[in-house]
Amino acid sequence: METRRLAVISNRLPIVLKKAKRGKWEIEPGSGGLVTALGPVLKNRDGIWIGWVGTNAEETPAGPLLADLLSRGTRETGYSLKPVNLSRDEVKKYYHGFSNEVLWPLFHDLFSRCRFDPAYWTCYEQVNRKFAQAVVQNTEESDYVWVQDYQLILVGRELKRLGIKRRTGFFLHIPFPPLDIFLKLPWRFEILEALLAYDLIGFQTVRDLRNFIGCVRALFRYKVMKSRYMSRILLPDRETLVGAFPISIDFNEFEELARTDEVAEAAWILHSNLPNRQLILGVDRLDYTKGIPERLLAFGHALACYPDMRKKVTLIQVVVPSRVGVEEYGNLKQEIERIVGEINGKFTEIGWMPIHYVYRSLPRQELLAYYKTCEIALVTPLKDGMNLIAKEYCASNIEEKGVLILSEFAGAASQLYHDALLVNPYDRRQVADTIHTAFVMEYEERQIRMRRLRRSIRKHDIIKWVNSFLQAGIAQNLKDFPQA
Ligand code: UDP
Repeated sequence: METRRLAVISNRLPIVLKKAKRGKWEIEPGSGGLVTALGPVLKNRDGIWIGWVGTNAEETPAGPLLADLLSRGTRETGYSLKPVNLSRDEVKKYYHGFSNEVLWPLFHDLFSRCRFDPAYWTCYEQVNRKFAQAVVQNTEESDYVWVQDYQLILVGRELKRLGIKRRTGFFLHIPFPPLDIFLKLPWRFEILEALLAYDLIGFQTVRDLRNFIGCVRALFRYKVMKSRYMSRILLPDRETLVGAFPISIDFNEFEELARTDEVAEAAWILHSNLPNRQLILGVDRLDYTKGIPERLLAFGHALACYPDMRKKVTLIQVVVPSRVGVEEYGNLKQEIERIVGEINGKFTEIGWMPIHYVYRSLPRQELLAYYKTCEIALVTPLKDGMNLIAKEYCASNIEEKGVLILSEFAGAASQLYHDALLVNPYDRRQVADTIHTAFVMEYEERQIRMRRLRRSIRKHDIIKWVNSFLQAGIAQNLKDFPQA
């Protein structure tokens, strides 16, 4: 692969700025699959990462102090960190507004939750222009610019408007909606046209790719040349490549951690505190797309329909706090807690409580212990770009005794459909029946399924994802195209 310098652009920089005791600022490296996967590539390519530092400009450390903190971060990560400062108003309208109240619900097919406020759009344009200006200031013509996710769709278009030439790629981490839903967006032409400004656009699944092509055909009537794993959209003056690049996890990291003594001990403690029963695991960020109330109701339904499961299963539902302070999310939390209370109130017996509800972020080791030891994982989002929890559960389930119940509307289903038990998360009865099927599944069948799931995830890990995207983007060459 040609070695161009790489610039990654995302809403957030891969660091966390924290105010420690006595008001002293500290910088910590970020975590997550994307950071792990891109780190070595950025290091090898003398790369840079451009993003928002995560605090309002009014509360961000002053210029020289921030520069000092970021150069400390640069020394630790091995690549440059370049900040984009956002005011409180910009965070409100660009991030909480257009990104999270328009694009997030619409792209997850939840149109009725959208707030199409024109002021949000204006600010979204303004902030995307700011990011594009940061790209201009920090990159050269030969660099490859890789923009991440729905908050920054317009960066490629803004670069073109500024007359800047760069080879650009864009990856959408969330789903792309079907035409009927996309058409509702007041800025549908602008968003589609902006996406087409990139040289390569990557989606999570073939379904998202097809939805996008459907919208391009309907709104612009451009010709599309399709081949097995890729398509070329023929624009009046150039062409854009589009493909499906299902994101993944660092499989080896999860597997190795799951084998450590610390995780084994935490897993043992968990099972010895909840003996003689199967543990069912749900782990989700607090978000209405994750289908948590629907899942809890299905679990309650399973207990009502299948008395043989009572006292023999415990659902551990972990909810990771997210978008704290947003009213809609506060209401969702209350709804979840009400349903947990109702089900526990109805079914609890001495020595057995059906649902253990955890509302906090878990330390890595504890999360791994849950992944390793729970007999069933219940991953039932109403819609999800990929869902990494499903893949992390399998990678950590080294004893191969776990059953993965997976929503057919998670991107992960397009890869794992063969060996996971697929469900429609809106179908309470089907989810309840499937929980029971998993509950009575013999060890041999669990092992065969889990082994195949793990093999598939190991083969298509995050390193492969990064390499295939960059290979396609930099060489504009799609020979080794991944399957979704
Ligand atoms: N996760 C975490 N803290 C927790 C529980 C989970 O950081 O207490 C991580 C988990 O390891 C996974 C991510 O959160 O990598 C969730 O990713 P997913 O794609 O499933 O959903 P998202 O929250 O990105 O919509």
